[in-house]
Amino acid sequence: MEETAEAAGERHAVVIGGGLAGMLAATALLGHVDAVTVVERDRYPTGHAFRKGVPQARHLHVFLSGGLRALEELLPGTGRAFTDAGARTLYPPRDLVTRTVLGWQHRFDERRHGCLSVTRPVIDGVVRDRVLRTAAGSATRLEVLEATEAVGLTGDAGRVTGVRVRARKGGGGRTGGAAPAERTLHAALVVDASGRTSKAPQWYTELGRPAPRQETVDAGIAYATRMLRPTGPAGAPDMGVNVPGWPGCPRGAVYVPVEDGTWLLTAAGVRGHHPPTDDQGFADFTATIGDPYIHGLLSHVDPVSPVYGFRDTANRRRHFERPGAVPEGFVVLGDANCTFNPVYGQGMSVAALGALALRRTLDSGGGLRPGLSAGGTARGGARLRRRLEHRGRRRPAVCRRPGRPCGPRRAADLLVRTAARAARRRRSRPRRRLPRRPVPDRAAVPPDGPAHGPAHPAAAAPARSQCPADRRGTAGPGGLTVSGAPPVLRVTAPRSAGTD
Ligand SMILES: Cc1cc2nc3c(=O)[nH]c(=O)nc-3n(C[C@H](O)[C@H](O)[C@H](O)COP(=O)(O)OP(=O)(O)OC[C@H]3O[C@@H](n4cnc5c(N)ncnc54)[C@H](O)[C@@H]3O)c2cc1C
Repeated sequence: MEETAEAAGERHAVVIGGGLAGMLAATALLGHVDAVTVVERDRYPTGHAFRKGVPQARHLHVFLSGGLRALEELLPGTGRAFTDAGARTLYPPRDLVTRTVLGWQHRFDERRHGCLSVTRPVIDGVVRDRVLRTAAGSATRLEVLEATEAVGLTGDAGRVTGVRVRARKGGGGRTGGAAPAERTLHAALVVDASGRTSKAPQWYTELGRPAPRQETVDAGIAYATRMLRPTGPAGAPDMGVNVPGWPGCPRGAVYVPVEDGTWLLTAAGVRGHHPPTDDQGFADFTATIGDPYIHGLLSHVDPVSPVYGFRDTANRRRHFERPGAVPEGFVVLGDANCTFNPVYGQGMSVAALGALALRRTLDSGGGLRPGLSAGGTARGGARLRRRLEHRGRRRPAVCRRPGRPCGPRRAADLLVRTAARAARRRRSRPRRRLPRRPVPDRAAVPPDGPAHGPAHPAAAAPARSQCPADRRGTAGPGGLTVSGAPPVLRVTAPRSAGTD
C-alpha cells in the first residue's frame, strides 16, 4: 500500500463524500486547517445533472426553512444563488396546500417558514460551486478527489489517523485496466459524510471498536417520481399541492413546481400501497389517493422523465452521539449519521445544521484540538437526544422525568398545547386572506384553489376518495387490495454490545 506523506507540520482534514453534507463540512473546516481533501467516488457532472452516488436525487427534495437559515450562515448568498438557478420559494399554506383527512387546508399568507422547491441536482450544484468559490478566497487549500473511493480508516480503536482510498474502476481514475492501488491520506480530522451507504460501522470493527448501536424504524414507504411539463395553465396551478396518505388511505402524492417551468410529481405509499413505476400504473395510482385533484392534472402535462422508484426510506439512527461512540479525530455528519423518513423533508436541513454545529464547535473552542470529536459530539449529542426524546419523536427507553408523561403521550400533549396556542394567536391576529379566485370546478379543487384547475372527470360528483383502503371512498380501480403492514422497529445491536 502506498503511503502519501502529509507536508511536514500541516494540519490536514479529509472529508469522505462530496455530497451536500461533505461539501458543507469542508466549508465548516475552512480557516481551521491548512488543507481539506474531499474524497468523492463519483465524477461530478457538467451542469446540474443527476449522478449515481445520490440515487434519491430523482425525487422531490424540499429544503426546509431551518436548514436554509443554517446554509445561509455557512455560505452567505446561497439562497439568492438558488433563486438565480430557478428555485421557487414556497410559503405553505399560501403556495403549498395540503389535503388532510378533514379536507383542504385554508390558504393564507404566512411567510415565516418558506421552503425551497427545486431539483436536487440544482441544490448540490449550487452549493458545490459556492463552496469552491469560498475556498478559493480562504487560507485553507481545498482539494476534491473525484472518482476516488474511501475504503477504510487508519488508526486504532482510540484514534482515527487517516483514510484509505483508491481510484474507482471505470471512474476515469488513474488506474486504467489494472486493479486500483490503495493509498492513505493522513489527517488530523476525518469527517464521514458518505451518506446513507456509509461503511463507518464496518470500519469501526476493522479498527477494533464495536459498531455504534443502530436503531431502525421502517414505515415501509416507497416513492415514485416523474418530472412533468404543463402543456397549459391548467397543468400549472398557482400553488403546489400535497395529498399525503393517512391511516384510512396510506397512499399520497405531491405536485410542486421546480426549475425551468417543470414540475415534480412524487407518489408515495406504505407496504401494500407502493406506487408502480410503469407509466400507466403510476398514472392509475394517482387516481387512488385521498383526493382526485392531482390525477386530474395529468391530462394537462407532458412527461419529461421516466418514472423513478425508491424504496429504502427507513429512519436509521446510529448512536454516534453517545459518550465514547466516536474515536479521537473522527466526526460523522449527514445521512451517514442519521437517515430520516423522507416524507418529513428533514435530511438536507440536518446535514446543514450538522455542518454549522461543526463550525461553531471549531470557532468557539479554538479550532482542532484533542478531544474535539468525542467532547463536542458527546455534549451536542446529549442535548440533541434530550430534545428528540422529550419531544416525543422517539420514546425514551427509560423516562428520565418520573411523574411526567414521556414519548407518545407527551408528544400528544405538546401537540395539543401547540395547536391551542397557535389557534389563540390566530384569533388575536387579523388574517390576511388571499382573494378567492374563480375556479372551474369547486368540487375538484382546493377551496381557496388554484387559479387554473383541471376539469376533473369526477367534476360532476362531490370529490370522493378512490383509495382502496378508505372505507369512506369507493372501491379502487383494478380491484386493488389492502395489505398495509404496521411500521417496523428494529434495533440492530444489543444495548450492551454498543458503545453507548
Ligand atoms: C426519496 C428521498 C426523498 C428525500 N426528500 C428530501 C426532502 O424533501 N428534503 C430533505 O431535506 N431531505 C430529503 N431527503 C434526504 C436527503 O436526500 C439526504 O438527507 C441528503 O442527501 C443527505 O446528504 P449527505 O451529503 O449526507 O448524503 P448524500 O447526498 O447521499 O451524499 C453522499 C455522498 O458520498 C459519496 N460517497 C458514498 N460513499 C463513498 C465512499 N466510500 N467514498 C467516497 N465517496 C462516497 C456519494 O457518492 C455522495 O456523493 C430525501 C431522501 C430520500 C431517500
